[in-house]
Amino acid sequence: MSASGMTVRGAVAFAANAPLEIVDLTLRAPREGEVLVRMLAAGLCHSDLSMIEGKIASYGFPIVPGHEGAGVVVTCGPGVTGLVPGDHVVPTPIPECRQCPACLSGRTNLCHRMARRPESPLSFEGRPVEAFSSLATFADHAVIEEIRLAKISPAVPPEIACYIGCGVITGVGSALTAADLWPGCTVAVFGLGGVGLCVVQGARMAGAARIIGIDLNPAREAIAREYGATDFIDPRATEDAPAAIRALTAGGVDCAFECVGATALMQQALHATNPAGGQVVSVGIPASGSELRFDPALFMTGRSWKGALLGGEKPRTVIPRLADWYASGFLRLDGLISHRLPLDEINRGFAMMKSGEAVRTVILY
Ligand SMILES: [Zn+2]
Ligand SMILES: [Zn+2]
Repeated sequence: MSASGMTVRGAVAFAANAPLEIVDLTLRAPREGEVLVRMLAAGLCHSDLSMIEGKIASYGFPIVPGHEGAGVVVTCGPGVTGLVPGDHVVPTPIPECRQCPACLSGRTNLCHRMARRPESPLSFEGRPVEAFSSLATFADHAVIEEIRLAKISPAVPPEIACYIGCGVITGVGSALTAADLWPGCTVAVFGLGGVGLCVVQGARMAGAARIIGIDLNPAREAIAREYGATDFIDPRATEDAPAAIRALTAGGVDCAFECVGATALMQQALHATNPAGGQVVSVGIPASGSELRFDPALFMTGRSWKGALLGGEKPRTVIPRLADWYASGFLRLDGLISHRLPLDEINRGFAMMKSGEAVRTVILY
């Protein structure tokens, strides 16, 4: 790599709703606190699709999407203290600087450095290209700040590791950290995509006695039961899914997770909770501008509503732990990766996400 940078291959969104184009980009060398990573795998997440569709106002075009990745450190810029070449790393969409008031508190994972984005290291034909989440994992190399990289065991295969960095930490963390679950509690999970299935598994780890999965796709029942669901509801087969859930749980679940970001499902989740202290946890990210209507009296008996990003987990601390749990067999993730594609076929991956054909698709470099 020269001082001016190296040539990398990446998928670029040049405009909203345009198919991604695979092109040669220039990636500059790492600066203070930054690391050059050779990407081995990258996961396709719904947030990337929202970005490509132009629904995330804080980013413009052209941009390299991708915020789930797994790779190996090639070189470190000055001031990098915790990583060396050869380390296996997973990028994280929320940094963890371990110095700001949020990082030092036990109450939030929203590191203050999240809003401070470094200048994008990418350019195309001399013009700057944005890096989604300051990561841009849909390129075969990336320059990423050390505070946005978790060091993991090399025993975890890259196709699994990349998924731990967003979908798994979000799902498992929502159950173990964001929600208040206890052994014997009852849970409903609305939406059994990759994240919802990780919520199911997290709820099982937390000791939930009854885990009710709800999904329009009947093919998700078998895999949900494999990960710990005790019941499955196809909302098209019942007139009133919340009523069916209340009937199964003597009045409502202790915690309902909404994993899609759909306001209609959030309403259902609220009405599926037990009046006495039932909790809704928002896991799915709603479209900006969404609004909910509900009777505030529903909360007077002790109900609550909570949301979290990445399950409320501090990512550089928790991603390595989840990777170790996978390596030891405590956390099972193998059935979740349904498709593996080369970078050239990334648009097909997003088409399968939209059709619901794929649980989770991974790009292998
Ligand atoms: Zn994601
Ligand atoms: Zn911080």
